[in-house]
Amino acid sequence: MHYDNHNIFAKILRGELTCVKVLESKKVLAFMDFMPEADGHVLVVPKEAVAEIFDLSDIAGAICFHTIRRIAIAVRAALKPEGILVTQLNGVAAGQTVPHVHFHVIPRRADEKLKPHKRVIAKLGKLESIAQLIRIQLEQSS
Ligand code: AMP
Repeated sequence: MHYDNHNIFAKILRGELTCVKVLESKKVLAFMDFMPEADGHVLVVPKEAVAEIFDLSDIAGAICFHTIRRIAIAVRAALKPEGILVTQLNGVAAGQTVPHVHFHVIPRRADEKLKPHKRVIAKLGKLESIAQLIRIQLEQSS
């Protein structure tokens, strides 16, 4: 996948579009997926401008993994799901739709089917209230 500097995550990283942030550092941004596959679906996005994992530097990958783990722990404490799914898609054939590398952290419950990918836009108020629960857990763990 070609890196397009006008992709939606590049715009979010430059502050040209808003998002519901849960964590930001110099190297990574984590925010609520606005079409969540389950309540509490968070995206972890490195600030490095690459489309797929093949081009991601080792250091950015390590920072992503550190952040994914922190987010998963915070989501687990905040929402108490039975499980947490972590996914990352490379290429259209794999289902990737945004050409800036990113990781999905998705709470899972045995009796709950995932919503379809990129189909249902969540209410902003709901995203904000879930994000706030996650932020509280992140603050307590830092
Ligand atoms: P992928 O198909 O793996 O590239 O996933 C892209 C994800 O980004 C999907 O789950 C979308 O719901 C999500 N998404 C796209 N645009 C935005 C946005 N502006 N804010 C938050 N999430 C977004």
